[in-house]
Amino acid sequence: MKSYSRKDAKTQRRTAKKNLELCVFFASLRLCVRNLFLTSLILICMSPAFSQTKPSRAHASLSPEAKALLEDAIGVVCTQAKLDPKSSVAIDEMQARPSLPLHSPDARAGAERAQRLLPLAKELVINSLNQLSTDYGFANSRNFNLRLRQAIARVNSVKRVRPDMESRDNASVYLSRPHVITFGTIFLAGLRSDEGMISVLAHELMHIADGDNDSLRVLVAAVGNKASDLTGLDIHGQRSEEVTCDLIGAMAARAYIVSSPDYESIARRLARSIQHNCVDLDEGDEDHLSPRNTIRALLALNPGLVRELINDRF
Ligand SMILES: [Zn+2]
Repeated sequence: MKSYSRKDAKTQRRTAKKNLELCVFFASLRLCVRNLFLTSLILICMSPAFSQTKPSRAHASLSPEAKALLEDAIGVVCTQAKLDPKSSVAIDEMQARPSLPLHSPDARAGAERAQRLLPLAKELVINSLNQLSTDYGFANSRNFNLRLRQAIARVNSVKRVRPDMESRDNASVYLSRPHVITFGTIFLAGLRSDEGMISVLAHELMHIADGDNDSLRVLVAAVGNKASDLTGLDIHGQRSEEVTCDLIGAMAARAYIVSSPDYESIARRLARSIQHNCVDLDEGDEDHLSPRNTIRALLALNPGLVRELINDRF
């Protein structure tokens, strides 16, 4: 059975495309032609300053200052992992734990949390998907919008979280059963906050949105290309999908935090959405970046998150 989860991976491979760069380039060109006095405009369009607005591998990498800030933000996330009583348990620590029976108090509390938050997570994923589509320049593509509507319908059709002892520290979606998210009991117990739970639910919902035919592949490839450019890491194929799912997870959790202010610091709450990646044993595979590189890619894609982690600690 084909499944999608943190560990299980698709065997299918995709070729990353550079549609976004072409889109931005032609959009810029049209803007030039539409607005203007030809001669001056052509000069502007040909000037080095204008050409820098076109995304390219040469211009997209992080500055040394941005890299240093990003590493500081990772420090905040993983320090909070030790200080916060509601922090998410690191993946490698979860993997080392014995299986947890369905009726254990922590597994039951996690399952109730997941089922309670599922309707909200669906709403947040749909909003985040719309936002990401706009951010990456696909909002005006009729073909993409048709695929997006179908993806949103798949998200809306998810009904249930199924706790499963055998799945241990994984959450999975079996596309033969697209209305159910299967959640290992160790993972349910290890996500001790609403922010952490929403992030992982949103990750799995994004797999469901992409569906059996990778219908959001142009968006997924654009996110992967940008993450590769910014970090210098190899983020293509299945890795692009995993990073996009994690990005949707972080966006959904952030939107939840903004809409439900409380006495805790923004940084502490944001950290919960990604800190299950604060591992000691930092290993990736062909389909997944290592957990710490996953945090790196997410923060590179989302500089607002870096600022909030560093500035809103108190
Ligand atoms: Zn996944």
